[in-house]
Amino acid sequence: MATEVRSGLFQLKVPIPNNPLGWVLPYLVPGDDGYTLIDSGWNTPDAFDALEEELRAAGVTFDRIKRLIVTHVHPDHYGLAGRIKEACGAEVIMHQREQDFIRSRYREPEQLLERMAAWLIENGVPRDEMQDLQQSSMPARSFVVPAEPDSVLWGGETLDFGLFKFEVYWTPGHSPGHLCFYEREKRIILTGDHVLPTITPNVSLHPQQMGNPLGDYLASLRRSPEAACGDRAPPRTAAGRDAGNHRRRRRDCVRGRGGRGLDDGHVRYVLALDASRRDQRDARAPGVRGAGRQAASDEGERRGTVRARAGANELKAGLPCGGAVLA
Ligand SMILES: [Zn+2]
Repeated sequence: MATEVRSGLFQLKVPIPNNPLGWVLPYLVPGDDGYTLIDSGWNTPDAFDALEEELRAAGVTFDRIKRLIVTHVHPDHYGLAGRIKEACGAEVIMHQREQDFIRSRYREPEQLLERMAAWLIENGVPRDEMQDLQQSSMPARSFVVPAEPDSVLWGGETLDFGLFKFEVYWTPGHSPGHLCFYEREKRIILTGDHVLPTITPNVSLHPQQMGNPLGDYLASLRRSPEAACGDRAPPRTAAGRDAGNHRRRRRDCVRGRGGRGLDDGHVRYVLALDASRRDQRDARAPGVRGAGRQAASDEGERRGTVRARAGANELKAGLPCGGAVLA
């Protein structure tokens, strides 16, 4: 059921059918010229109907949606973009880096599949197991009706809707062009998959996310408006409470204040981060210099990425996905 998290701003709940994640959480923001939807949901008949029902519960019909902003183009956040655009002509907006993935993932994936095969082989995947891994993301394409963006964001902009003014934060890590939106005055952050209510997001390597995704993610956490909220703002919603608890648990653990009450998956995630940091520290030790030090550091971050991903995947079952309000 749609939840009004601030006067006029609604959190919507859209099911992800036949998926243990359960829900994705788009937000509806009122504005001077109509409404803005942030994220959409998967493209299934049930999800589309649920979105329409949630909008109705918030007192809004599709024809009043002026724009759809997606935090990133994963199917659960972007899947209904084409249908929403068709229903109401909404302007579609996303980060430039996410725009680059629309054609290669959802329209013409052949080249990406070739790159994936080469990358898997290069990283030691046996040829007889390669094809399953190469194709593993392809079923998700059926949950996306793509729409090209009408405009793009880079991070650093302010979106002035009238009552709400959201600062745009570029937060790569979970996805290269992931965005968060921060309402400084009202102390609201819409976090997409960057910060989830009780779990850590998937941060992984693949041919479209090379380099050091975990390093990018950690840097995004340090930069992101979550830090700007500090400890002064009491969470005021269920999602906010969960997110606040998540933040406190992580802070306490990382600062070495204990860790009692942490679930196993969270401990695994923090330990992965610790291992990554330890590896980096070792790499900086005397006797490891120049290229060797960098290689050791990269390896440490890479191992951290793999461990964090394993923990996050195990944790996801039965938990809502896609959005938290920290306030
Ligand atoms: Zn995602």
